[in-house]
Amino acid sequence: MAHHASDTENPGTPRPLEGRRVCVAGLGVSGPPVARALLAQGARVTVVDGRDDDTVRPVAAKLREEGAEVVLGDTPLPEDCDLVVTSPGWRPDSPLLVRAAEAGIEVVGDVELAWRLKPADQVWLGVTGTNGKTTTVRMLEAMLRADGRDALAVGNVGTPVIEAVLPDEAGRLHDVLAVELSSFQLHWSSSLRPHAATVLNVAPDHLDWHGGLDPYARAKGRIFAPGTLRVVNTADAWSTRLAEEEGDPHTPLVGFRLDTPRAGEVGVVEDLLVDRAFVPEPHTSAEELAGLADVRPAAPHNVANALAAAALARSVGVAPASVRAGLAAFEPEPHRIAFVASVGGVDYVDDSKATNPHAAAASLGSYPSVVWIAGGLLKGAEVDDLAAMAAGRLRGAVLIGADRARLREALSGHAPEVPVLEVGGPAADTGRTVMDEVVAAAASLAEEGDTVLLAPAAASMDMFTNYHERGRLFAEAVNRLP
Ligand code: ADP
Repeated sequence: MAHHASDTENPGTPRPLEGRRVCVAGLGVSGPPVARALLAQGARVTVVDGRDDDTVRPVAAKLREEGAEVVLGDTPLPEDCDLVVTSPGWRPDSPLLVRAAEAGIEVVGDVELAWRLKPADQVWLGVTGTNGKTTTVRMLEAMLRADGRDALAVGNVGTPVIEAVLPDEAGRLHDVLAVELSSFQLHWSSSLRPHAATVLNVAPDHLDWHGGLDPYARAKGRIFAPGTLRVVNTADAWSTRLAEEEGDPHTPLVGFRLDTPRAGEVGVVEDLLVDRAFVPEPHTSAEELAGLADVRPAAPHNVANALAAAALARSVGVAPASVRAGLAAFEPEPHRIAFVASVGGVDYVDDSKATNPHAAAASLGSYPSVVWIAGGLLKGAEVDDLAAMAAGRLRGAVLIGADRARLREALSGHAPEVPVLEVGGPAADTGRTVMDEVVAAAASLAEEGDTVLLAPAAASMDMFTNYHERGRLFAEAVNRLP
């Protein structure tokens, strides 16, 4: 049942940030809601951002009206500041963060701040991993709601976490949060203690930010805090290892797997999702949670996401029937293996959210014969293994974006027979967009029964605003095909 702020707050409650000077670093996605939350707590807030352009100026003006100081075009550390709340994407070697560290001033991320401000009885279930976070927290939210809980998924998509820990306009607070956590947010967290948490998988991504796979994985491992029940992917070596090495050995370790679960695990038996962890007698009994057909799309990586969500839901007592009802109610997010159209016997699929090789591998593995559209910003990831795994399925490839040469080399090494086209930009004087060129190139390679798959294995920002725009323009270009 939802409760109201008045149930938990009394006027005498100390407000730890009252009167303190807090610096908010970055006016991106998390900055404005963080600044507002801090103002509501009575803090004196200075927001800084190195940009000073038309995207940030209106946001800055609004925050000034609400009582914050805002510095644009420079990132000074405010004089009397004693806490920095950084945008998770800021690198630790950013000058302001380095100055804060030198001065012994604490730096936290938006999630850590939210954790410190949340009501004591609000339960958090944490999800991290290289891929599948958004899907999993959304599935988890649906399962919790089907069970009658006042639950909310927070993170990258939808409500910022900081807004979910403060009473909404009606004074209402949520009972359970399904929290999506990036490696950056975990890097900037210290006291976070989810009730239960999972690392879905770990594959190379954001290596340029973290400085290598080991620090990237270890940042994810921080989700397994003291007292946190550990949910792990038995098929992913890092997931299990992080739970064992970073987690609390006194909490249950619950595995999920795509085949028959052992005692203490959730898994798949024939066409059923089955629980042998959260049942009274795991050694002798099992409970049916849902059918494979309840998972949409039922690609293996997505079944893994559903199992992880189910384990987290079961850790707070969600009934088996609610797991099934939640999966049935779940609406897949756009740009994640989303079917666009079938043109001339060829299916066009938008997996623009495949922004790293591991995600692209999962979607390539779902189709037997593919014209693959790939490329963009690889963020330091290697693509040789991906080219090797894709080779047997490729009818052809269309390469785009800044790092396409690396993909070209990998394909020429591992799939020398596969025809590869490159699109650098729109052809002059045709009035066609670059995506029109890309889709036309893909269509020219495709044969009846093939799938043209936009699964770039790379970030989009060299050519597009973000993966949403990349996917939307792809779908529009497909719909313009003759
Ligand atoms: P995230 O929030 O971690 O980026 P999403 O649910 O948005 O995860 O999915 C991101 C991409 O990864 C999509 O392209 C999707 O097809 C792919 N994907 C989703 N779940 C998995 C998984 N468990 N393993 C590998 N790839 C996955």
